[in-house]
Amino acid sequence: MSATIIDGKAAAEKVRAGLAERVLRLKQKGIVPGLAVILVGDNPASQIYVRNKARACENTGIHSRVERMPENTTQEQLHAMIREINGDPAIHALLVQLPLPGHLNEAEALRQILPAKDADGFTLANAGALLTGTKGVLPCTPRGIIELLKGAGVPLQGAHAAVIGRSNIVGKPTALLLLRENATVTVCHSRTRDLASVVSKADIVVAAVGRPGFVTADMIKPGAAVIDVGINRLGDGRLAGDVDFDRVRETAGWITPVPGGVGPVTIAMLLANAVEAAEAYAR
Ligand code: NDP
Repeated sequence: MSATIIDGKAAAEKVRAGLAERVLRLKQKGIVPGLAVILVGDNPASQIYVRNKARACENTGIHSRVERMPENTTQEQLHAMIREINGDPAIHALLVQLPLPGHLNEAEALRQILPAKDADGFTLANAGALLTGTKGVLPCTPRGIIELLKGAGVPLQGAHAAVIGRSNIVGKPTALLLLRENATVTVCHSRTRDLASVVSKADIVVAAVGRPGFVTADMIKPGAAVIDVGINRLGDGRLAGDVDFDRVRETAGWITPVPGGVGPVTIAMLLANAVEAAEAYAR
């Protein structure tokens, strides 16, 4: 049996169509949702991500402000830019594109962002809200993963989920959101003993490792849902996820492709966070 392929582009399109209507309602109240992105330096992947985010904003009727700062920007100059945008009434949501150049402190920079304008949900206030199950801004990729699973009809309650990766931006928040959906969650990382055996018991596998082909078919329980977060650039320039897609699809019940899976829905969730920030501002 071959897995159902979860179409991230279609899921993102559906989210965006709903958002476009909400943007129109805000505009009728005289509010144009605004998202600002700060990009420091010239990391080529970040340049592409920022361009895609700005384009997605324009297609959904969201005002986008992109601030490009040079590689040698100081911590204080970055903080001054964040504070200026915090005070800009045309901007309801703000993100600092990560990774920052090595001389800059990411945690210090994130601390400058007003939690109400935190488009990525990375501030301590919003991370704390996620941990405690209170209202806050959710990080985009984990929010997108739940959207994909629910949209595909994957049962979450009582399911055993294995999340591979424990980063602050993907692994940990995804585990917390799955827990919120009443899944039983195991978080795996580089020190996990017998990872293959842990993963092979899971009904839901989320791979956020950053290693092409890391998840192989023998690790997957027949019928499991496999969400591939990884974005890896291969030697020949192609993009690949963390999952051996061609073989795993023969065993899994559901699977997301790379590209066209988690990526598009992550951007849609960023737009959702921006629209929700503008709606909160309008209230
Ligand atoms: P990080 O590098 O921050 O985290 C990777 C995690 O994988 C770590 O927790 C690490 O464990 C774990 N890991 C590494 N090697 C192994 C191993 N051999 N066995 C088990 N676990 C291992 O990455 P991110 O979370 O930021 O991103 C993960 C991937 O997702 C990347 O490819 C990234 O490009 C992609 N990504 C995609 C997004 C999208 O929109 N589709 C958004 C964000 C990220 P440990 O903590 O022990 O070191």
